Order: sequence, then C-alpha cells, then structure tokens
Amino acid sequence: MRNVALAFCAVTLSLCFGLLPLQMVNSARTFPEPQTLRPVVSTQARGAEIVSADISDSDEFFQRTVRTATPERDNTQKIEALLKRMTLEEKIGQMTQLTISMIATGSDQNIKIDPDKLEKAIVKYGVGSILNVADQALTVDRWQEIIAKIQEAATKKTRLGIPVIYGIDSIHGANYVQGATLFPQEIGMAATWNPELMKHAAEITASETRAVGIPWSFSPVLDIGRQPLWPRFWETFGEDPYLAKVMGVAFVRGLEGSDVASQDHVAACLKHYMGYSFPLTGRDRTPAWIPENYLREYFLPTFAAAVKAGAQTIMVNSGEINGTPGHINHHILTEILRDELGFKGFVVSDWEDIKKLVTIWRVAANEKEATRMAVMAGIDMSMVPSDYSFSDQLLALVKEGAVPQTRIDEAVRRILRVKFELGLFENSMPNPALKSKVGIVESPQASLQAASESMTLLKNTSHALPLSKDRKVLVTGPTADSMVSLNNGWSYVWQGSEESFYPKDHPTIRRAIEAKIGAANVTYLPGTKITRAAGPSNSTPTDKEEEVDIPAAVRAAGNADVVILCLGEGSYAETPGNITDLTLGEPQLKLAEAIKATGKPIVLVLVEGRPRIINRIADGANAILMAYNPGNEGGQAVADVLFGDSNPSGKLPFTYPRTPNGLITYDHKAFETEDTAFGNMAFNPQFYFGQGLSYTSFAYSDLVLGQKTISAKDELSVSVTVSNSGQRAGKEVVQLYVRDLVASISPARMRLKRFAKVYLEPGQKRTLTFKLRSDDLSFIGPNNKPLIEPGEFDVMVGGLKDRFTLR
Ligand code: BGC
Repeated sequence: MRNVALAFCAVTLSLCFGLLPLQMVNSARTFPEPQTLRPVVSTQARGAEIVSADISDSDEFFQRTVRTATPERDNTQKIEALLKRMTLEEKIGQMTQLTISMIATGSDQNIKIDPDKLEKAIVKYGVGSILNVADQALTVDRWQEIIAKIQEAATKKTRLGIPVIYGIDSIHGANYVQGATLFPQEIGMAATWNPELMKHAAEITASETRAVGIPWSFSPVLDIGRQPLWPRFWETFGEDPYLAKVMGVAFVRGLEGSDVASQDHVAACLKHYMGYSFPLTGRDRTPAWIPENYLREYFLPTFAAAVKAGAQTIMVNSGEINGTPGHINHHILTEILRDELGFKGFVVSDWEDIKKLVTIWRVAANEKEATRMAVMAGIDMSMVPSDYSFSDQLLALVKEGAVPQTRIDEAVRRILRVKFELGLFENSMPNPALKSKVGIVESPQASLQAASESMTLLKNTSHALPLSKDRKVLVTGPTADSMVSLNNGWSYVWQGSEESFYPKDHPTIRRAIEAKIGAANVTYLPGTKITRAAGPSNSTPTDKEEEVDIPAAVRAAGNADVVILCLGEGSYAETPGNITDLTLGEPQLKLAEAIKATGKPIVLVLVEGRPRIINRIADGANAILMAYNPGNEGGQAVADVLFGDSNPSGKLPFTYPRTPNGLITYDHKAFETEDTAFGNMAFNPQFYFGQGLSYTSFAYSDLVLGQKTISAKDELSVSVTVSNSGQRAGKEVVQLYVRDLVASISPARMRLKRFAKVYLEPGQKRTLTFKLRSDDLSFIGPNNKPLIEPGEFDVMVGGLKDRFTLR
C-alpha cells in the first residue's frame, strides 16, 4: 500500500516423433501507425520458439529445479567477524529498509539523490536497504546513477562499508525499468502450464533488473488465488497449490539461477507469507479465517517448495489470520519457517506493516510495542519505509532489555548472509557493461511466446475461430485499444494506469488486428471506457466505467462480418482494486447485449485480472478467448490466435464462476457437484479449472496403472497415450488428477498431481508415464501433519479413469 503522496508511484517418456516447433505460419508485422516500430517477429513467423522444449512431466521438472544449485559458500567466519565489529546502532541500521523518497528529491524522471538525506540514511542511521521507485519507471542510466551514489555512500563513507541491498517489485519483468521486457502477469504465466517458460521469463526479469544495479526482486507472489474478488488475484498462479508450486519454483530458479552472485541474477523474495490471499470478504488486507490444517494444505506448499529451492528472502502477509496479524505470528514466522522449513534467508516486513499493527489491527497500543512484537515474532528487516521510527524504537527496546541482543544478532546475520551470497561485498556498484542487456531482441520474443501460450480458448461454437483474414471486423470494447488493460498493475507506475508510459512500438489488440488484416478491414469504436476515478488512489475503487456512444458501435456492427468484443478490466494494484461486485461492469454488459441484438457473430476477448461474472453475455458469444493480463506482447498474441497464426494452448488456472455466489474451486468437496439442491447445484462454474480449447483435437487412450494395489512405500506408474486427432499441430496440457474416495478429513473431489505440456503434430502420439508417490496421496490431518490413509483412489487423465487401492 502507499500513502496519498505516493499515490502515483507508485516423466519417463516414449516419443513417436521428436520435439518440433509450433506450426509455422507467416505473419509479418506491419503496423500503419505509429511509425517507430521495432522489428519484432511473431512466434510463428520466427519458426522457432525461444523456449523450444515442452514439459513432459511436471514432477521431473520440479525435482530438477527445486535443487539448490548455488555453490556452497560458507561466509560464516566473515559474517561473525563483521558482526563483532558492529555497534548496536549499525546492526539496527541493517534491519531498516527505507523508500527511495527518504534519500531523494524531485519527482518522476527528475528524481535525484539528495546528499543530505543520503548522509542521514546511510551514514548516520546505517540503513541496510532501500526500495521502490519514487513515481515511475526510470531509465537504465538513471537507475545506475542512483544505485552508484547509494553504494558509494554505503561502502566508502560508513565505518564498516557494508553495501546496501536495493529491492524492487520486478513482478512481471523489470517493470520499473524503462525499455525492459514486460511478461504476462503470473495468472497468465500459470495459464501456459509451461514452467520452463516461466523459468526463462524470470531469467530475463533477473537479468534486466540486475543490469541497472538492483540485486533483489520482491517476487514471486506465492499466495494461492482461491478468492477471485481479491484485487491481487492476477498476481498469483491461480487456485491450485500444485500448479502454483511448480511455477513458483520455476520463478525462483529463474531469478536466482545456479549462482545468485552472478551478474544476471537477483535474490527472490517469496510473498506474502502466508494466507494473505484468502480474505473472507475478498477485500485486500482484511481478515482471513484459515484453520491450520488448511493453511498447511493449501497455502504453505508453494512457500515450502520455494524455500527448498533456496530462495533468499521472504515478505510477510500484511493481513491477519484467525485474528493474528501476519507480522506478529511467531508460529508462522519462526516455528514453521525456521524450525520446520529450515529457512536461512531473512524476513522483510511489508509496507508500513509494523505501524499498521497499531493503526489497523490494534494489537499494539503504540509503535514501540508493535516493533517489539514484530521483531520477536521473526521480522528481520522492517519496510518502515518513510521515517526512522523503527530504528529509534528498536534501539530503545534493546537498551531497555525488551528485545535481546541475541535476536538482533540473529536478524543481522541473516541479512549479511544474503548480502554475501549476492556478492555485494565484492562488488555492489552497477556495471555499465550490463546496460545493453535490457530489451535485447530475444526478450520480447520470449514474452510473446509466453503470451501466446497463455491464450485460453474457452468457447468456440461451430469453429467460429479462427477468423479468415478477409473478413470485415468491428473491434469494440474498453480493452481493445488499451496497453493498460493488457498489463494491469505494477507496470511503469504502481497502478499500471498511465497509457502514455507504455512503449509506442507495441500494438494494442486493435492495432495488432489492423496490422494483420489491413486497417481498411477494421472499424474500431470503443463502445465503453474504463477510467480511474478521482481521489486518493489507495482508498477509492479505481475503475469507473462509462458508455461511449454504444449506438455508434451497434451501427458499425451492422456493416461488419464479425464483432471482436474486448471486455474486462482496467488496471489496479492492491487495495485500490477492491470491488463490491464480481460482475462485469454494467456499461460493458449493455454494449455486449446491444451488439448481440444485431445478430452478428461475436468473438468475446476477456482482458482481466480476475474472473468477472459474464453469465448474461456468455451464451450470446460464438467464441470466448481469455487473455488475462498478457503484457506488452499481448495485443499481438491475441490477434495471432484470433486469425489462426497461433494455436491456443492455455488452460484456465482457476475456476471461472458463473454467479457471484458461486465461488467454488475445482477441488471442492464431492457432494458439491452432486444435485443436492433440487437442481440448484453448488458447483456450476462458467468455465472449469484446466479448461482450454485448441484449433486441433486431442484424443486420450490406454490409461494404464502399474499396479492395482500398492503400499505407501511404492511408486505407482500411470501411463497414458495422447494423440493429435485433428488437422493442425498444437500443444496439449495433459492433466493428472487423483481422488481419495474416503478420508478422515472430508476429501476433495479431485486434486491435480501431475501435468505435462506436449507438442503434437497432426497424427502424432505420445505415451507419457508419470510416477505417483505416497506424498501425492497424503493430506494434512486433524493434527496438522501429513496423513496417508489406506483405501481406494481414482486416477483421472483426459476423461479416462482407473482405480487403485493403497494397502
Ligand atoms: C506490497 C508488496 C510490495 C511492497 C513494496 C506492498 O504494498 O504488498 O507486494 O512488494 O509494497 O513495493
């Protein structure tokens, strides 16, 4: 959250054929305007993908990627020697994190380091970390200049020369660096079901972040998206803990690489540990009620896996669970994180969250008490970030004996350890030679591949798609000509809301369609618009929707062969994205209904960060394409799918609800699918988790279980054959689900346990063999520990089902 002043800142596998790239179809990119276009080639025209391997087994990927490859560097002696020389003030300085405005003056591009402020922060207080942008993304040069000044002060003007660790939210690319590559947001990356692609996107993100001298990114978000109202839903990998766990580990490995000290990697920061994403009301930073067995079942696995993968840092849940705010939860921050998971890095608070223990949660009478509670619970570094209260109060607390020195030493050791791991003591200065790494040609191509693989075709009645390129189309709707909607929050500015900041050489959906089929074949009329309401951006719902001459759009539809109706959302990040109704905005529904009345075929494109309810208009659309927030290459990716230059392969990483009260995930209880309510079934979503069509068809056969009865020590092999039974090449996501028929904690109807994304030429077949282990059959029992109970289990893959017994 920001204050008002900061409102703007911010498997074993047998192959019948080898691996081949996606179908090659020529699609040259020539845009009528603007004139300064950069020569980007679409995935298909390139004839080769940036990430060419497909994922033949999520478990094989996971096991290979979770391993910490970082070289064993034992810096213990250096850390202990340094710690001995540090004064209490210097130690507390290391635990303090301030925002850039505390050391700089000016705004926007005119921000510059203020020597007096810098002296106070770095030299007087010995502050260990700085974060954020003041207002907006900076150029590579400006970043390097700023970081150099900070490190110069830290390493040359302080007694011990400890470098600063600068942190930034590079959540879908280095989104605060001008010219950097913006990828689909995490929800779109999840829809690719391609962790190899996620890893590569994170590698590019890391390289473009470190290129400006910043060694730490506040990503990935490992919260589970099981509450679609939550305004940070799109920052997650969706509702399933297994998919999110595999993608999360891919993200961490991409950021940290095999040596986090190298010049093209950064330290990851897992956030927001944990349970933040499941507020009862759906509003950001409001109470969650999550019993510990469910916390461990659904919300812990992503973090546990990423800790195992060696993630260097963790940021804390800004909300509360069962009445205990994340920032004072000793059980979660210390007993689970340190004692159980063995996390060795440091824990940073979220924005102003120690203060909020007083102002919001009211678990402390004053900030000093809040500081003691948070530090004793396990916070190692406080994102204060706009004053020196934390340092002053912690100093007083230690002097009074309310916080033991040993706790301070423990926190500082952890912080120093990460600084050593990052190689900051050897070299903390930005490297001018790295500047050229930002925006290299391959990076947007990787982003285009990610956007293309995320495109999820949810409906395609009578092969409405793909469209032929000689059709006259009306492009309409508020997201058709909007880079803001394609990207959503954390893009150049915190709220992602400044259309003028987006690069001019990337087409919106409208522009990409014009380039593909010729501007003469395209009529564009917005129909409605989404604007930001006036007022402080951190406290008002930001989207304001208005009609823009719907009758004109209706008239234009009369002259078109088909209407491409682009609906969805504007941009929002955190609390400003709170909504009171998940239903799509009324002006948009009205536009859709008016277009429907013309009788023209409708292709509905959804550009949105969460599943807004569309039951009033879904039946009226001939085709529905879910684009999520696909990033800067999203316009191209959408146009490529609509006109058949790429074959969609995305699958929904969440359940798309049909009604506002139908917020039920795919892994619900068995009875919720049964007709227990006289036809008014609980689980009746608009679209299913894992759903997504292709322009070809896939057939499944030969589901074979290695054994019909196993013991908990055995591995169970499950093989299945998938073939491309259609006319064109495509990628299929093979999804393996397991159902525990009877369990002492009422079992989920089904749970994803493995997946594979495979490329198949027409007529090609592949047989995949997955291995299931006992931990795939366990659940968290009433005593909050994993439990494996004997009994019967179903295995389901692509419409096939078989049963085995666990002895
Ligand atoms: C957000 C975090 C973010 C931090 C720093 C907070 O408001 O909750 O996700 O990393 O700000 O920008």
